[in-house]
Amino acid sequence: MGWLERISEIEELEDAEFDAGLVAAFERAGPATVARPIRFSTPTFKDYTTSELQGCGKNSFPAFSVTAGGCALMCDHCEAKILEPMIPATSPEMLDRKVRDLILLQDLQGFLLSGGSNRLNEIRYERFYPVVERLKREFPHLKIAIHTALTDEAGAKRMAGAGVDTAMMDVIGAQETVRDVYHLDRPVADFEATLAALCATSLEVVPHIVVGLHYGRVLGEADALDMVARHPVHALVLVVVMPFYAKAGTFLTPETPEVGRIFLEARRRIPDRQVLLGCARPPGMHKRVTDSYAVMAGLDGIAFPADGVTAVARTIGRPAHQEHACCSIKLGGSLSEGASMACGA
Ligand code: SF4
Repeated sequence: MGWLERISEIEELEDAEFDAGLVAAFERAGPATVARPIRFSTPTFKDYTTSELQGCGKNSFPAFSVTAGGCALMCDHCEAKILEPMIPATSPEMLDRKVRDLILLQDLQGFLLSGGSNRLNEIRYERFYPVVERLKREFPHLKIAIHTALTDEAGAKRMAGAGVDTAMMDVIGAQETVRDVYHLDRPVADFEATLAALCATSLEVVPHIVVGLHYGRVLGEADALDMVARHPVHALVLVVVMPFYAKAGTFLTPETPEVGRIFLEARRRIPDRQVLLGCARPPGMHKRVTDSYAVMAGLDGIAFPADGVTAVARTIGRPAHQEHACCSIKLGGSLSEGASMACGA
């Protein structure tokens, strides 16, 4: 029995529509991918439980926004909504106090530092670095991730110098997307320059690519994959644009086969590093199919996996395990994983 027939027998996927040609392509590539272990990550900045996996129930890896809900860029796909569930930490003192409280009360393992960006798609973190540095010195077990936004060599060095472990940024491959979706007057080359600057430091660099970022159309993803492949990143995170965050009617939902083909292409172009499916993707049956494609394409990790997906891994013979952390953070494993909603930040 082929993969398509086998996964169609999984109860949670009985109403799912899979692209037969794509599943056959995954199966052909299978000998190179099925032995790769896959990690199912359940970060704690969202409530999470499926019929197969439990959220950890503790706030052990929260996200802080240094601008609370504010963002000057207001990208069309997000309009700063990604910041809403984050914990506001608009001053260094507030960040310090909240992190210490969570260490005492909630077994904090690490945190994500994020925020809205200015009109140049930069985030002003400088005044927070002394606090980050002190926290890291006092609590060396904390794993600290940061949404870098665009930065330069000096900015990347300051992040690394403060003790940040993991740097995350969106990589965009199409100039039209930078201009239209981000409302940003900077060349695509600035995204690659940021990637290069981050990779020149000791940071673990985990870029994100948002599939369908151009109003739900696949446009610059292949170029973005090439940009990532040219640099010694630690891992790549793929997410799928969520029209849910955008103004009604402005974004299409990318078709699942288009998303699955990007997974296959990412695995092919980046065979030697971790490629992960991050938290953000459309919910419901779309998510079940997308996540099943991620398992079959040979991606190395999935954040908040949908119902039925651990069964897909079992069915095709991929070793799987669960971990509680933002999957961009290494927590005792031998490889870092990446995730979180990719912020343009
Ligand atoms: S993706 Fe980042 S920069 Fe863009 S609107 Fe959202 S928070 Fe702001």
